[in-house]
Amino acid sequence: MKYMEINNFVTDFTYKSILDLGIKYLLGNKEIKEAKKSGKKIIGSFLPPIDMIYAFKNALPIFLPRLIEFEYEKYVPILNLLNKFNILKSILNYYIKNENVLLNQFFKDFDQSGYSRVFSSLIDIAANSNYYMDTCVQTRISYGAFLKYFNLVDMIIGGFEGNYCLHFAKFYERINLYKPTFYFEKPYGDENSPNTISIIDKEFNRFIKLVEKLTKEKIDEDLLINILRIQQEIRKYLILIYKLFKRGYVPLQSVALTLIHGCYVDLLSDPIFCKNKLKQLTNEIYHKYKKHELYNYKKEGIPRIIITGSPGFDPALPSIFQNAGASLLYLDLFQSAKDSKFKLDFKLSGLDLYKKFLVETNYVNGIIDLIDLWLNIAKEIEVDGILFSKSWGCRFTTPAFKILKDRANSELAIPVLGLDFYTPGENLSQVQTRIEAFIEMIKKK
Ligand code: SF4
Repeated sequence: MKYMEINNFVTDFTYKSILDLGIKYLLGNKEIKEAKKSGKKIIGSFLPPIDMIYAFKNALPIFLPRLIEFEYEKYVPILNLLNKFNILKSILNYYIKNENVLLNQFFKDFDQSGYSRVFSSLIDIAANSNYYMDTCVQTRISYGAFLKYFNLVDMIIGGFEGNYCLHFAKFYERINLYKPTFYFEKPYGDENSPNTISIIDKEFNRFIKLVEKLTKEKIDEDLLINILRIQQEIRKYLILIYKLFKRGYVPLQSVALTLIHGCYVDLLSDPIFCKNKLKQLTNEIYHKYKKHELYNYKKEGIPRIIITGSPGFDPALPSIFQNAGASLLYLDLFQSAKDSKFKLDFKLSGLDLYKKFLVETNYVNGIIDLIDLWLNIAKEIEVDGILFSKSWGCRFTTPAFKILKDRANSELAIPVLGLDFYTPGENLSQVQTRIEAFIEMIKKK
């Protein structure tokens, strides 16, 4: 097998399911416009969970970053058509097996500079509207996206696991000046914390009343149970894929992994499609595994590095790691799926079951929960190193860097690289030099 086939994120797009998910993700803007025209209320968010919106027939949830149109948007209709006739998969297979200058240039633009420009333009929109520029990149991008797609969305929800962050709260406070907003207060704690349970209970009831008023319909509890059942099935597929990471493989690379994280938030406006595609993906991966076509990175000594820290990272990072001969992995969702204690209990009503789900997926100790999650991934899949994305201005995730680094050194004896991140596309040559030195050091160990 050629090296290009082994550690190339484009390889993942030869899975038909990944192509289908990717194209549907990119069609988000168009699909939401159509749903809005047909009278649906669009409820946006920047964080999960938003799947409970599927319990309303007159509403549709949207993970707001899915509205962002990229420079290659013009290619999406043709890609969609090629994909429908199964031609796109063959083109990608050809590209991977044959060096091609034209296609090389296309993928170079596709994965790096185009992304960076789109995100910087959203930051400019926020800056021109006098948004606080002393805040983290996520909220600056999100505010720009909110203004750009303002007319498409009827209501915004936030809070949940973002409840801990003052920047996030201020971001919603600002948005609330212009759009109906619901900020879900969710304190730390688990099923042993009576106050947490009672606040989540009250907040969820308040939220349901607000959406019922917006959509002019009652919540359908059967639909709520149904969505939890779909989520449960999706978690089963994620756990199966994660098992291969534990055995030293990289069944999916960072670009496809980021796509799956994005799809999981709003289930792409179509939960059944999303669930079926993840089932198909699991089958496609295991088919390749059984035919011994998956490459074992552990055995071949290709370093596997996990990304931790702030969820925002420069879109150029996967390629920089790839060029340095390593693989960058984003596995938070896979580990959370594995750790989930949630079980469907059909004795409960839909509302009570969903509240139970919210309690059982809650942070118990705040940032320490995330540090434990990252260290668990590092330990379980035996990573060679950890990248910590230090988002400038972040007062919640970034301060965890020192604790994570100390614990990774003492508990797992693996190195941690901290990279500062202010605006996409900035200081890339310096970032590249640091990553190359980090991978070199790991290879020499
Ligand atoms: S990156 Fe940090 S500061 Fe920004 S919203 Fe997330 S937790 Fe808050």
